[in-house]
Parts: sequence; C-alpha cells; structure tokens
Amino acid sequence: MEILKLAARKVIFPFLVQTGLVKIFSDKSGGKRLILMYHGVVKKTDFSLSVNHLALTDFEQQIKYLSENFEIISLRDIFKSYKEGKDTKPQLAITFDDGYENNYTNAFPVLKKYHIPATIFVVSKILETPDYILWYDLIDLVKSKLNIDFFKSNANKLPSEKGNMIKNAVSWGDFKKVMKMLDVEEKEIIIQRNSNEVKEILSNVNAEYKNMLSAGQMMEMISSGLIEIGSHTHHHPNLDVLNIDEARNEIKTSRKMLEQALNYKVKSIAFPDGAYNETTKQLSINEGYENLLAVDYKTSSDEEDENILPRFCISNTTTSESNYFQIYRAFKKKGF
Ligand SMILES: [Zn+2]
Repeated sequence: MEILKLAARKVIFPFLVQTGLVKIFSDKSGGKRLILMYHGVVKKTDFSLSVNHLALTDFEQQIKYLSENFEIISLRDIFKSYKEGKDTKPQLAITFDDGYENNYTNAFPVLKKYHIPATIFVVSKILETPDYILWYDLIDLVKSKLNIDFFKSNANKLPSEKGNMIKNAVSWGDFKKVMKMLDVEEKEIIIQRNSNEVKEILSNVNAEYKNMLSAGQMMEMISSGLIEIGSHTHHHPNLDVLNIDEARNEIKTSRKMLEQALNYKVKSIAFPDGAYNETTKQLSINEGYENLLAVDYKTSSDEEDENILPRFCISNTTTSESNYFQIYRAFKKKGF
C-alpha cells in the first residue's frame, strides 16, 4: 500500500498532470463549479508541529496551475453563477479558513501576482485578543512538549459526562474529538491557555504558525479588491453542539465585530469544522449572511438550498499533483 501510494505521488500523478491526461478523471456530473478550502501558507512546513499549513512553494505552484486550467472567480461570483445556473467553463473559488497572518504575508502576494480573488474566513476573537490561538492549534503547538495528562487535569471541572470522556481519551485524536463536543468555556477550562506551562511553550513557537491577522492587514487586503473577509464565528466552536443562544451569539458577534473593525459588509460565513445543522443555517440567514459554507452537506435538503455550498479541502501533506487529481475528481461529489 505504501509503495503504491509513493508510486502514485512520485510517478503517476506527475505524469498525468504533465501530459494533461489528469483531465480524463474529471467528472462534472455533479456540476462545473467547485470551492477550494485552504488554511495556512508557510515558508517552511513542519508537520510535527501542525498539518494546517501548506508550503508557500506548493501554494504558488497550485495557484499558477489552477489559474491556467480553470476560471477562478470570487466566492460571491460563484454563488451568483450557481444561482443563475447558466452553463459555464469549469469554475473555482478559493477560500482560506481560520485567519492566519501567513495568509497576508505569504498567500496574498501570490494572489496579487496572479490576480486571483479569494475569501478569508476569520475568527473575530482575534480582533479583541490579537495573540488569540485557536484551541486545536494550541493543542498541536504544545503537544510535543506537554503530556495529554496536563489537559486532562481539569476534566473534573466539567459536567461529569463530558469530564469522563476527556479522561477516557487515550490518543490526541480521541482527545480532539471530545474537545469538539465542548462549548467555548469548557474548552478554555481544559486547554489552560493562561497557564505558565502553555504560555512558555507558545512563546517559543515560530510566529508563522501562531500569528493571526490584524484588522489593518485585513483592510489592506480588502482594498486590493481581490480579498473578501468572511466570518468563521467568534471562537471557532462546533456550532451544532451549542445551544441556540450560544450559537446565535457566535454567528452574530463575529459579523458585528468584523463589520465594525473593517467598516465593511460581511456577507459570507464558513462553519468551523464544517459542523452545522438546520438551526445554524437559519440563524445565519436571520443574522444577514448570504453565502453559507459547509465542507460536506449534512442534510439532504442542503442540495436544494442555494444559500449553502460544500467545499473541497486541499491537503497540505501530499504533493500538488495529487491535489490536482483530487480536485478533478471532487467535481463529481462537491461540484454544483
Ligand atoms: Zn476553521
């Protein structure tokens, strides 16, 4: 299996891309439009630290290739194009989740160079607390130095069912799965961001992996005409596990804060971790969002709902050629 994977990455996918044969794997039966999801873009990847960031050289290679092989339009335009339903050339829209500063320092210059529009979804908490680190980044960035028991040490402070699930998590993977079920306050109790242990480790982490966008950087990108800023909620919770008031608060606060700080109309929201339900959709529409983004559709009615679209997640840990192969294939399931 590993040898086959390696052969595919090193020989088969590069061959298919160079010869253009990769296009025969394209199945547009799902639709001719597709939205891509990126996260961070860093000068040097360190997957032992985090797999949430793509190498800058790969990013530029991908933008160049994609702009030569697809029509890349803005998120707002791809929603419009979808609603109009006209036949079109294969179209892509590009999005980034989470709001890393490296989107400004690394990705934005490439997007300008190729004149490619994109939407960046930011967590509005970074406007209040510029050194805010997302809960799962915090775990990733400290996990090689802190034992999982450090996080479990506060499990007793949670409601007993959730506390027990935290205590019973064996791997980091299990632990993160349980974390997704906690509300915003409960997560803070577990991650202990203000403890000396966590602060000390984070202070030594490469800035590219932890710094988030500032309002000034967002405004500069908006004024280029290429970048749209969207909401990724206020704290990045899984919206489907929150009660309705908490969910509304996350959706509402982020829009309000972003609009105030950027003097700009926020129209799009991407649901953190792709987690949402019917209530989440309704709350978002009621709060004035027009473009809702999932990763995978959660209910069958979503396919008929013109306000919500799925996205294809770019892998940071594989080669660009295998990403192209996966993109061509993704039109079948995630095209619209
Ligand atoms: Zn996210």
